Amino acid sequence: MQRNHPITGWKDKVLFTPGPLTTSRTVKQAMLRDLGSRDVEFIRLVEEIRRRLLELGGVAKGDYEAIIMQGSGTFTLEAVVSSTIPPEGKLLVIVSGAYGRRIAQIARVLKIDTTALNFPEDRKPDLREIETALAADDAITHIAVVHCETTTGIINPIRAIGAMVKQSGRRLFVDAMSSFGAVPLNLAECGIDYLVTSANKCIEGVPGFGIVLAKREALLETEGFARSLSLDLLAQWKGLDAKGQFRFTPPTHTLLAFHQALIELEREGGVEARAARYQANHAALVAGMQKMGFQEYLRPEDQGHIITSFHYPDHPNFFIDEFYRRLNEKDYVIYPGKVSDADCFRIGTIGRISVADVRGLLAAIRETLAEMEIVLS
Ligand SMILES: *Cc1c(COP(=O)(O)O)cnc(C)c1O
Repeated sequence: MQRNHPITGWKDKVLFTPGPLTTSRTVKQAMLRDLGSRDVEFIRLVEEIRRRLLELGGVAKGDYEAIIMQGSGTFTLEAVVSSTIPPEGKLLVIVSGAYGRRIAQIARVLKIDTTALNFPEDRKPDLREIETALAADDAITHIAVVHCETTTGIINPIRAIGAMVKQSGRRLFVDAMSSFGAVPLNLAECGIDYLVTSANKCIEGVPGFGIVLAKREALLETEGFARSLSLDLLAQWKGLDAKGQFRFTPPTHTLLAFHQALIELEREGGVEARAARYQANHAALVAGMQKMGFQEYLRPEDQGHIITSFHYPDHPNFFIDEFYRRLNEKDYVIYPGKVSDADCFRIGTIGRISVADVRGLLAAIRETLAEMEIVLS
């Protein structure tokens, strides 16, 4: 598929990545205006975005609060970790990939007492081990877990983990960066105190900010905990709630795009319809890749519809850099692997792409294999 930019003539590539993603032309066009950060229209726009975000999480204002934080998703993870754990608190991070490890790293940099509960990367974590870890250490006050571990594509059993954490009386913090908007989820039912996502993943906006959906009661207990001025979550919320304003320059254009993306999500039929489109993308991808002789890293029962890791094919002519470059020249962008114990590349099935785009990618991969003289299976 060719998409040429109306002014520059540049041909857009189709992104099969975990973000930034391919976005609709109308989302990009929504940015073609300038808004002042104290403008009433801008303040209304931010309010409307925050209202729609709570709706997507299945929760009501007052029970939960939506907070927007400038920066990429990681900045927002850092805002939650640095602002919500008390000085004497302790964080347990459930780790089964690079993104879980990153949360633990954020906490250690902040000198927060942290334990990483490490699991193999190729399957869902063992719930009994989590339960045992919670029971074994009274010092733990907060638990962090990644919803879709984008390293592999596993979607973790968040409801079961939430029930355990809730029963043990701890606070739960979920990195739902790559799943929110594409996996139906009710925060209250899952016992989530803080959920983090970002503008440029499954809501299909452009990069520039992250989002926290916070349980109000938990948030209000965090006065004085912040270890950073610009990433102070409570202060950010107070600014937004009192005057609808950001403390520091907001990403006005990104917010305009995001508002349009939320409208397009609603028009598509909401989270369920979006999940169905991504599932169709994923099914078409896996069927086509298997037919060519590629093998997925995960077993089907552990694999989600967001992103899929594939093993490098066992062939002397396969070099990942060349494979990537040749696909890129055909306007298809895939993603390098992040699994620690296997050579993999990743293909995302999220963003403004359809089964037709997946078929285009599969054809480009077939062509690339022929160019590299690779015959599989
Ligand atoms: C993308 C992603 C992040 C990081 O987001 P950045 O915007 O690159 O900072 C964190 N966690 C998960 C699970 C992700 O998929």
